[in-house]
Amino acid sequence: MRPLIAGNWKMNGRLPAAMKEFDRLLREAGRAAAKAKDAALPEILVCPPAVLLAPFRDAIAAADLGGVVALGGQDCHAAEAGAHTGDIAAEMLRDAGATHVIVGHSERRADHGEKNATVAAKLAAAHRAGLVPILCVGETLSQRDAGHAPTAVARQVRAALGAGCTAANTVIAYEPVWAIGTGRTPTPEDVAAMHLAIRRTVEKAVGAPRMRILYGGSVKPDNAATLLAVAGVNGALVGGASLLAKDFWGIAKAS
Ligand code: PEP
Repeated sequence: MRPLIAGNWKMNGRLPAAMKEFDRLLREAGRAAAKAKDAALPEILVCPPAVLLAPFRDAIAAADLGGVVALGGQDCHAAEAGAHTGDIAAEMLRDAGATHVIVGHSERRADHGEKNATVAAKLAAAHRAGLVPILCVGETLSQRDAGHAPTAVARQVRAALGAGCTAANTVIAYEPVWAIGTGRTPTPEDVAAMHLAIRRTVEKAVGAPRMRILYGGSVKPDNAATLLAVAGVNGALVGGASLLAKDFWGIAKAS
């Protein structure tokens, strides 16, 4: 299975600096694609703020890297249209060039009070629009300290996945909340155990044991090779280290 290396820019990236950095990434990707056969490259996905999707889509097209670098949204509303000021429909993300969308990121769960039911509705909306949702799940530090990490994460997975979720149309990102933006990571053994537990939950819930499961949380160029080599890890969701092309590409190369 080709690894998926996804960058979550969060609320970062102002024009024109964002465009310059994205162009740097396209140059790295273009050089690598020229050298390698497509199958040897990981899938590269960038999830910028929604206002940057269309200019990034145009830059990908201008560089003729459509099959090499893809774009995703960071969130979507469950509805297709309506009176939801400030929200963005999955269909709009698709119109702007996205093929994927992150749903249930812990920052959305914390900052916007998103519950599992809301995340499930967003995941279904992504499928309705023909996008691949990247479902983020992960335990808080107190859940982990209490020994509840596997049950908390299994609950999030079961609540969000529904009929129609397949290995081809859905991705999961295991992101321990305490590892996001902190520089702390679980041990490779802990990552392997959680990924195995998630895979079993996915298999029971929707019968898709080959669904991609990414690891996310303080992935950097210097720890990427170790984390990406863990059994059951099919790629990474990268926050801070996706903002500079050289770091993000360093992670992609480690896969
Ligand atoms: C994230 O927010 O999805 C994330 C993994 O962030 P970071 O890599 O900065 O920990």
